Amino acid sequence: MYIIKTQNELRAYLTGKSSIGFVPTMGALHQGHIGLIEKSMQENEVTGCSIFVNPAQFNHQSDFDKYPVNIENDLELLLTAGCDFLFLPTVNEMYPHGFQSLQHYDLGYLDSVLEGEFRPGHFNGVCAIVHKLLQAVMPQNLYMGAKDFQQCMVIKRLLEITALPVQLIICPTEREADGLAMSSRNLRLSAEGRSRAATIYKGLTHIRQHQYSGSFAALQNACIMSLATQNIETEYLALADTDTLQLLPDFNAGSNMVVLFAGRLEGVRLIDNLTL
Ligand code: AMP
Repeated sequence: MYIIKTQNELRAYLTGKSSIGFVPTMGALHQGHIGLIEKSMQENEVTGCSIFVNPAQFNHQSDFDKYPVNIENDLELLLTAGCDFLFLPTVNEMYPHGFQSLQHYDLGYLDSVLEGEFRPGHFNGVCAIVHKLLQAVMPQNLYMGAKDFQQCMVIKRLLEITALPVQLIICPTEREADGLAMSSRNLRLSAEGRSRAATIYKGLTHIRQHQYSGSFAALQNACIMSLATQNIETEYLALADTDTLQLLPDFNAGSNMVVLFAGRLEGVRLIDNLTL
């Protein structure tokens, strides 16, 4: 596997490659990331992954400082998976002029609802780095996880805004045996917190199973209360249309629906979602 640290080296390595699949990550890799790499390897001549903890998308410095870093383990997973190259730039390489005054991306409604509401500026920071990475790698195919449901919608919008010739492929959420969505942030949980966190997936599946027998508001309330008994503080638990992310007050047979959750456990912010 080639480990590449600058955009110039990247261009030299990729010139002439006919089909490039790309998986951007923030590291502390797990099977969720590796699943994306494996999918890309099936569909492209060359597959690359980037590891870059993007300072521009964190709302709090402390969250950035505590973001798990585990590069030795990451390298081992990437080598085992057979990834062709790893792009591992420094902050200065990606933001030579700093990241305080970034390009503004007009994300409209997506930037004001759910993650947009609770993490102001977060998606603009995500767009800034994904835009730069796409310009550097110039892949045909970009692989992202449905775990970050709203982020996938934002990146679709970014591709429209920038008119980059990149196809976005969204892959299903990989879960632990107890249903917890795999996440780098899970590494920050204690063993007890880690097992409590499985309540999130249980709550989402309960809502999915009972969608024909109860109102969303009643199921939402019960779920928030059951999460609270596990010390999980809900930021939002919302029902939305999968195509537009418009919030729905109740189940609606005419819409494709998704339930989205964000909350905190032991100071760690966790998100998950389930399509109904
Ligand atoms: P991150 O390193 O958390 O920024 O994630 C990098 C990419 O991996 C994003 O496209 C995520 O949606 C995806 N990803 C993270 N966790 C999972 C998971 N459990 N299943 C599938 N994809 C995931």
